[in-house]
This record gives sequence, C-alpha cells and structure tokens, in this order.
Amino acid sequence: MKTKKWYNYLWVWSIVYFALGFFNILFAWLGMIDFLLPLIFAIVGGNKWFCNNMCGRGQLFNLLGSSFKLSRNKTTPRAITSKYFRYGFLIFFLTMFGSMVWQTWLVASGAQNLRQAVKLFWTFRVPWKWAYNPAFLGESLAWVAQFSYGFYSLMLTSTLIGLIVMVLYKPRSWCTFCPMGTMTQGICKLKYKEVLK
Ligand code: SF4
Repeated sequence: MKTKKWYNYLWVWSIVYFALGFFNILFAWLGMIDFLLPLIFAIVGGNKWFCNNMCGRGQLFNLLGSSFKLSRNKTTPRAITSKYFRYGFLIFFLTMFGSMVWQTWLVASGAQNLRQAVKLFWTFRVPWKWAYNPAFLGESLAWVAQFSYGFYSLMLTSTLIGLIVMVLYKPRSWCTFCPMGTMTQGICKLKYKEVLK
C-alpha cells in the first residue's frame, strides 16, 4: 500500500479555511495560496502535480464522494465535461473575479462603502457582519476586507457547486470544469508544445 504523505491530508485545510473565514473574514486571503500554487506548479514544472497531489478541495470531494459514499457515482454529463463548457465557465469565472477586484477598487477609492456580506452563486447576498469589525483596519484599508468578502464568496460558491456535482455525478466531477484545472491544463499544453518545438 502506498504510504500517505502530509499533503494527502490537505482536505483538512479546505475545511479549516471556511471555518476561519466564518469567524474572521480576513483569513479569506489565505485562499490566494490555492489560487496561485497550481499556476506556479504548472508554469515552473509544466505539470498538474498540484491537482494530482496537493489540492485540498479535490481531496475533500474524493473523501466525501468515495469514502463516505455521498456521490451517486454516475457518469458526468458530456455537457459539463465538454471543452466549450470548460472554457465558457473559465471565462465566466474570470469575469466574476474581475468584478470582485473592481468592487475592491471602488471601496479602496472611496466610491463605495464596504459591503459586509457573502454573495452565494453570484446572486444571493448573505449578511456576514460578525466576521469583521470595520474599526479593525479603519476606513483606509476597508478594501482589504472587501476583497476578503469577495474572495470568500468565490471560494464558497465554487465549493458548493463542486459538492452539488459530487453528489449528482462522480466525486470529482468539479475537476472536469474547475477554472484552476482548465488554466493549469492550458499552461501545460503550451509548455509541452514549446518543448516539442
Ligand atoms: S481541478 Fe481544481 S479542484 Fe480539481 S484538483 Fe485541480 S485545482 Fe483542485
């Protein structure tokens, strides 16, 4: 049997991340690690080592879906796994990310007040005031908290979508259209082409 490494337990991090953000939204910034690491691995190593070994979210879906049998284990529909859907979702995701950065900028420039809410599925605003005291960073750094709310919303929404498709289809159905997975795959393809030149 293969010996487990420390990074095989990073699913714990996925849970800890949301728990920390529940009590203090500023911890949402830590999610940037999950955002940047896969890209760094793909750019430097030209591989998906992060996805295959270190992604806490993928591990969590695997654990819940396979070990806890919370997945129906049905084939993921072609409509979701298709190239068009994957790239379409990536564009949508990046647009939403851009909109979040824009909201952060509006707060930083004083054009908008800090919104202490988490937006689920880019639609439903859930008040989340307890997780941040505006006096903590002051008005000039309110953008730091705004980014936290936005990023936490993005992380929570994508995890919820991942959990839904985990239950409906295969445990790691989310990975077939995960924006990070699509981006790293694209980078690896480009690097591979470069090597073959
Ligand atoms: S595709 Fe996304 S969720 Fe799946 S392992 Fe890679 S980064 Fe994690």
